[in-house]
Amino acid sequence: MSTPNSPMPFDVADALDEVERTLHDPRTAVVALGSNLGNRLELLQGAVDALGETPGLRIKAVSGVFETDPVGGPNGQGSYFNAVVLLRTTLPPSSLLERGNAVEDAFNRTREVRWGPRTLDVDILFYEGVVSDDPRLTLPHPRAHERAFVLAPWLDVDPSAQVPGHGAVAELLAGVDASGVHRRPDLELHLPQ
Ligand code: ATP
Ligand code: CA
Ligand code: CA
Repeated sequence: MSTPNSPMPFDVADALDEVERTLHDPRTAVVALGSNLGNRLELLQGAVDALGETPGLRIKAVSGVFETDPVGGPNGQGSYFNAVVLLRTTLPPSSLLERGNAVEDAFNRTREVRWGPRTLDVDILFYEGVVSDDPRLTLPHPRAHERAFVLAPWLDVDPSAQVPGHGAVAELLAGVDASGVHRRPDLELHLPQ
């Protein structure tokens, strides 16, 4: 039995601290979307809308749509549509990842082959103030800084973006091969209503 003066167990106190902190202090996060199966534009818009409906999450800006050659994975998969979303959230990083996974599942994402074709991929590129090498959630995303298909839409949505530990997105993009990445000016994603 606890008395008014007995200290709470440390883990409970830490968890409450985390909730308190995030509820009062929305953070900026950046999420990458990719699709190379099905109606790619509809899938990306569906992901933007689903993320936008998440309590505690507000989408601030959405990049243009980029059509990109597949990198890694099996030969012969179709080209991707990629985009990057800038958001503000009171969700802690682990909850944002869970929400991203739930949105992937809602659009029938399957996982058979590493880097294989998929209806929808939702990756967290950046979460303000958090650096993590936990394999379940690595922040910033461990391969974002070397991928033109991520850097090009990221630069588009936030020209001053930085990848913690790696530098400015603009400089990183200038240093990688972007020959397989093409903006599609004829296509557009919109902010959720
Ligand atoms: P890549 O990570 O190279 O982009 P992928 O997106 O195809 O590959 P997935 O199969 O979608 O890889 O994800 C594998 C695991 O990566 C997920 O279960 C997730 O826990 C983990 N992961 C680690 N860091 C992140 C992150 N920043 N964003 C999303 N998932 C992450
Ligand atoms: Ca990915
Ligand atoms: Ca992923």
